[in-house]
Amino acid sequence: LCEALLAQIDKVEGKVGALVSINNEKALAAADASDARRAAGETLGRYDGLPITIKDNIVEAGEEAKCSSSILDGLENVYDSTVVRKLKEAGCVVFGRANMDEFAMGSTTETSQIKKTSNPHNLDCVPGGSSGGSAAGVASKEFLGALGSDTGGSIRQPASFCGIVGLKPTYGLVSRFGLVAFASSLDQIGPMSKDVQDSALMLDIINGEDEKDSTAIPGKITDFEASLQGADVKGMKLGVPAEYFEVDGMDADVKASVEAAIAKLEAMGAEIVPVSLPHTKYAIATYYVIATAEACTNLARFDGIRYGKRYTGTDDIIETYFESRSRGFGKEVQRRIMLGTYVLSSYEDHKYYHRAQKVRTLIRQDFEKAYEQCDLIVAPVSPETAFKSGESSEDPMKMYLADILTTSANLAGICGISVPCGKDKNDMPIGLQIMGPAMGEKKLLQAAYAYE
Ligand code: GLN
Repeated sequence: LCEALLAQIDKVEGKVGALVSINNEKALAAADASDARRAAGETLGRYDGLPITIKDNIVEAGEEAKCSSSILDGLENVYDSTVVRKLKEAGCVVFGRANMDEFAMGSTTETSQIKKTSNPHNLDCVPGGSSGGSAAGVASKEFLGALGSDTGGSIRQPASFCGIVGLKPTYGLVSRFGLVAFASSLDQIGPMSKDVQDSALMLDIINGEDEKDSTAIPGKITDFEASLQGADVKGMKLGVPAEYFEVDGMDADVKASVEAAIAKLEAMGAEIVPVSLPHTKYAIATYYVIATAEACTNLARFDGIRYGKRYTGTDDIIETYFESRSRGFGKEVQRRIMLGTYVLSSYEDHKYYHRAQKVRTLIRQDFEKAYEQCDLIVAPVSPETAFKSGESSEDPMKMYLADILTTSANLAGICGISVPCGKDKNDMPIGLQIMGPAMGEKKLLQAAYAYE
């Protein structure tokens, strides 16, 4: 299997550009180890030898985790993140590192300082982001499954743009230990795969409590995949929030495909109920205040002294910080650090940050009220299909606004999945988003599995 995938990588990676690195010898050695255990008569585990790619912001011992930034050049990590440890304990082969927007800030993977990733469905289009490498690599069959991270949509949106499945788990279901933090109260690691079953299988492996992450939820769930058996939407109540169909820039094909998907679910026996999420219009402002505030705090540690690349042209410490950060961070990351510093400065703190926290509560309460009327919520993932390469650098505000349908789930801490539901007139994939309440993954996966 690993050999076949490496051959596929050889064939398509030059065009797609999904990976920032892959060590063929290491991957084959891990696969050989599984084969050797089997040859020695050992019964292999369910996941033994399974190649899984990880996003470049997930730490593995002995490897760089550059977050697609040049500021972390040359930093070799000394420990495994909890998700990598769990993959290895299950027998999986950690199969390369996927490209991403620098420090997961972006929606196109174009802010990567390492390379360009293209959408396998049209090489002139972006794969989405920030987990664009993970999505493009699954779509081009370079690897079977990948881990991404989702702070405001970075698993679901690229999954939608590339026509694959991407799951953002409930906040805390998967440990963040060893995930380089962007916005700690929003970040979640999750699976990206060709179908729902593979995502359920990966979630079985990676979820569970962790003494190294105090926000990880106690317990461990092992039957996400098993509970797909005979999954059915009959009798399920699916909420449709009008606000998610009325956003600015909603593409007619996206709307039509998602409505057709909802009609199909109804024909399969689901009950469709209108619900309201009235604070949706504040999601972008709230998200970009909280995410940038947390990002500027988290990224303060990259000072040229402790990690990665240092500017050595001076012996002045302040200048060392300035030059290391100015040269190491790209434009979008610098923009977010400045925004975050602004919203946290003493007066503005009350004006923006504290207010955003209050609106965040209102957004969470919107969902709680909606889930009194329905089991799951169905909506589009993104108002548009994959953008043309180069569009985003011209207008960052336009990119921020396109996150309107994904950021609320992170602000509320709930789970969401993107499942392919059609194509637009240019043959680009469209995703159906299903959102469930906190810890509602089982029902979420069952509905997604029944639909697909
Ligand atoms: N596109 C959003 C942003 O740029 C989401 C990123 C993410 O989920 N990591 O912040």
